[in-house]
Amino acid sequence: MRIVQIPLLRDNYGYLAVCEETGAAAVVDPSETDPVLERIDQEKIDAKAILNTHHHRDHTGGNAGILERRKLDVYGHKSDAQRIPGITRPVDEGDEITVGKERGRVFFIPGHTTGHVAYLFGKNLFCGDTLFTAGCGRLFEGTAEQMLDSLKKLKALPADTLVYCGHEYTENNLKFALTLEPGNRKLAQRMERVRAAREAGRSTVPATMAEEIETNPFLRWDSAEIKDNLRKRFPDLSLNPVSVFATVRQLKDQF
Ligand code: ZN
Ligand code: FE
Repeated sequence: MRIVQIPLLRDNYGYLAVCEETGAAAVVDPSETDPVLERIDQEKIDAKAILNTHHHRDHTGGNAGILERRKLDVYGHKSDAQRIPGITRPVDEGDEITVGKERGRVFFIPGHTTGHVAYLFGKNLFCGDTLFTAGCGRLFEGTAEQMLDSLKKLKALPADTLVYCGHEYTENNLKFALTLEPGNRKLAQRMERVRAAREAGRSTVPATMAEEIETNPFLRWDSAEIKDNLRKRFPDLSLNPVSVFATVRQLKDQF
């Protein structure tokens, strides 16, 4: 599968996931109409479907405009049938979807919203605003328990999985991560690479799951350094995975 990244709005990414054999493609999270349609034309692909990870406007804002000009199927979680514009294919955990000859799988990963899903095609994971490179989404609708379960599902994917998330937030996420794990050498090294990429105007997405597991504080509820840090700030906190995750999330909300 060939992946085309499309910068949208201020810091969003939409994607085209293209079956190279047939030219069939899916549009992942079109925040806007025109830049997505232009890119579909430029790439000379046959767009068949929109895959929405969740209902937020910065992921679905282009649905209606695209559907005015082309007839596509629209995928989203079944609980969001009222919130995803133009939905025709409500999906749930474990469903298979096809783009040309490529097969994808749906993961139900609530927490940021109650109806959030991810789509996995081979190594390519489209995870919206649940897992960010070096971060995770805010808990707008779900609980810390739900989000932790969702992140555990993604963390269990193969180490070479490519994380295609919904926003370019990596640098700021790493600044926060370094406040919790200043001793994590992989984290410091990643920050150097990400700073250089941003200075050169390059995208820092995707990253591998291996890199996320080594440096993303929201996948590191077992890190001794993070736990020591939390113990100093909150002596009464019990350091189980849910409370570590929830506390790190709260600190990030205030960062
Ligand atoms: Zn969102
Ligand atoms: Fe978003």
